[in-house]
Amino acid sequence: LRHLVLVLGDQLDPQASAFDGFDPVQDAVWMAEVAQESTHVWSSKPRIALFLAAMRHFAADLRAAGLTVHYTELDDAANAGSLAAELQRAVQRLRPTQLVMTQPGDWRVMQSIKAAAAALGVPLEVREDRHFYASPTDFAAHARGRKQLRMEFFYRAMRQRHDVLMEGDQPAGGQWNFDADNREAFPKSGPGHVPSPAQFAPDAITREVIALVNQRFASHPGMLADFAWPVTRSQALQALERFMRERLPQFGQWQDALWPNEPWLWHAHLSAALNLKLLNPREVVEAAQTAWRQGQAPLHSAEGFIRQILGWREYVRGIYWTQMPGYAERNALGVQAPLPAWFWSGQTDMACLRDALAQTLRYGYAHHIQRLMVIGLYALLHGVQPQQVHQWFLAVYVDAVEWVELPNTLGMSQAADDGLMASKPYIASGKYIQRMSGGSLCAACRFDPAQRVGAKACPYTTLYWDFLLRHEARLAANPRTVMQVRNLARLSADERARIQAQAQSIRDAA
Ligand code: FAD
Repeated sequence: LRHLVLVLGDQLDPQASAFDGFDPVQDAVWMAEVAQESTHVWSSKPRIALFLAAMRHFAADLRAAGLTVHYTELDDAANAGSLAAELQRAVQRLRPTQLVMTQPGDWRVMQSIKAAAAALGVPLEVREDRHFYASPTDFAAHARGRKQLRMEFFYRAMRQRHDVLMEGDQPAGGQWNFDADNREAFPKSGPGHVPSPAQFAPDAITREVIALVNQRFASHPGMLADFAWPVTRSQALQALERFMRERLPQFGQWQDALWPNEPWLWHAHLSAALNLKLLNPREVVEAAQTAWRQGQAPLHSAEGFIRQILGWREYVRGIYWTQMPGYAERNALGVQAPLPAWFWSGQTDMACLRDALAQTLRYGYAHHIQRLMVIGLYALLHGVQPQQVHQWFLAVYVDAVEWVELPNTLGMSQAADDGLMASKPYIASGKYIQRMSGGSLCAACRFDPAQRVGAKACPYTTLYWDFLLRHEARLAANPRTVMQVRNLARLSADERARIQAQAQSIRDAA
């Protein structure tokens, strides 16, 4: 065997650099389902099932195209349980002259494969991941000499460089960013009719995976009864087409809005297909740009959507690869509370959080504002140790791969990176959630977001004020939060003490 081409669960793209020069006569593909990748964090059933189902479909497609695939299934008797150990078994059996792979999405995996190859004495060629618009080197060049790495400047440079939503050298519509049009809350009457998302009934391969996951990972969080994610490229393309037609026009306006029992709203639900590389970001961005040019979607929707992919998605990957491995350990606020156990069960009296956690466990999905301003916000205000928050976010979502999950959790959501990513912590009281859901999430809740202390006080509101008190000096030194901290001056010493006591009792009870 000449080359053994290593393909990981989030590299399901036959156009990936690892396949360049692939010769079906001399080369073969290696893929392995290993328990360690589902247990290093306590992965949810939907997440495990999605990866395994998509991997099996991809391997079948490669074989149908005439490639030799050496594939270890999870329940193979000889399965050694980790990527490194499985690779060792394959190399000893197949004796390739070289290993070839595209750069993985996870620093830990990169290190373990490099170490395994070195121990086996077989050369390993790691090729750049062309899936992304920007390489880590491009990002490092952009970052050089900047103290803060704001997404907005990176995004503008990407728009120009890749000629996306440009009119000559000017941004389409005369504005780089229509963020101000992307923050509407739902009216009291609710979101109106929301189209059903693209869903795919599990085929025989996926049903087998579902049975395997239910049996092998029975104690893991989440459920599989509603599993309907795209697991092949052709399904992912159908999901993309449905989004462009049915959701993109409304996406911009309602990007930040919340409503109970409405998990999908006008979001794309394409993150998992993108992160597994079933979709290429260029085709997704191009489709949105075309929808706008053809008058099928307003500019603020197309721009708001493209900003997430060409901007945020590329930017967080740059942060990850330029900051790892130290980034994963950061805890700028020095917080140490354990993650409340009910994050894994969804059993809490806070209606908004219960709603977001329930759909997370049911589908492996929550939209951005639920992740940032409901679940992440709670953990931030509570003072949960950021590494525990990170492990939870990496475990539960179907789109969770460390390069994208870690900066979003540690940097954007938990303010653990000392302002590298976000110029201020995303903090708010329960009133924010009330406003963004047109009052609906709080109407069904036993807590009152207007109250700071007492039996009816919303824990978000108590913990928000406690957060201001705990981090007063730091927030007062930041021009973007100084106004929020000034409100503390209105509190008497007695009120401060009551807020702090109630916040402590929330933490003690968790
Ligand atoms: P839409 O809202 O429709 O957005 C369209 C696409 O833009 C997404 O499919 C995604 O590819 C991209 N995108 C949007 N926001 C971001 C962002 N902040 N960073 C990177 N890409 C973005 N996204 C993941 O893909 N995997 C994760 O593990 C993940 N963890 C997160 C953890 C926290 C604490 C937070 C606040 C956000 C996280 N995100 C993560 C980003 C974002 O919430 C999800 O990408 C989005 O909710 C996926 O749903 P969607 O496809 O319907 O996205």
